[in-house]
Amino acid sequence: MSDAQATVLILLGPPGAGKGTQARMLEEEYGLVQLSTGDMLRAAVAQGTEAGRAAKALMEAGALVPDEVVLAILRERMAQPDVARGIILDGFPRTGGQAAALDRLLAAQGWRVTAAVSLEVDDEAMVGRVSGRYTCACGEGWHDTFKKPAVAGVCDRCGGSDFRRRADDNAVTVRERLRAYHDQTAPLIAHYAAQGVLERIDAMGPIAQVRAALGRILGRVAA
Ligand code: ADP
Ligand code: ZN
Repeated sequence: MSDAQATVLILLGPPGAGKGTQARMLEEEYGLVQLSTGDMLRAAVAQGTEAGRAAKALMEAGALVPDEVVLAILRERMAQPDVARGIILDGFPRTGGQAAALDRLLAAQGWRVTAAVSLEVDDEAMVGRVSGRYTCACGEGWHDTFKKPAVAGVCDRCGGSDFRRRADDNAVTVRERLRAYHDQTAPLIAHYAAQGVLERIDAMGPIAQVRAALGRILGRVAA
């Protein structure tokens, strides 16, 4: 990390709120770097690292992975030079301990959180959103109902058809993840309100509408 303050955008919201979808679009449009602890943990599970072995069963059950496991992965990622372009944190922090650790990590570099945006949605709708979603190997996200490729089975972005569904994207696990969100992550909304960096947006509308709302926030606060 460099000392000059870069944009540090946090996306808060339950599973299915659109954090990953929006983070990928902002990454392209603003040249920021998306940091998804969920993606990092899934990579660790796939590689069978120590962190991955600690995380696997918890993720499959829809429970949070212990702070120290997530923080070790995040610290390592934050040490890479590309984060100086500015970051979008997607799915992190998720607990008070993670938020405090992030504040310290940023302060050590003379950085602070630029904005924490709460994507506000109805829980019941999230079960449908998460249950129908899948991802192309190129990183593009799709949905059985809400975001279908123009040609069925072919990714608009890359032309490929290597689609995957996450093991934890089923109705039972989603309910556990919603519970974890409300118990452990939603209290962070007050943490960021107290810092004066909280923004709330209605994330029940179309993807493009949420994107526009995020763009307006970034236009106002970006470093
Ligand atoms: P979603 O927001 O749709 O639940 P993520 O990919 O962000 O998806 O997270 C998937 C799972 O990875 C979580 O249910 C949890 O088990 C684990 N995980 C991801 N990020 C964190 C984090 N910051 N702290 C603890 N566990 C995490
Ligand atoms: Zn693709």
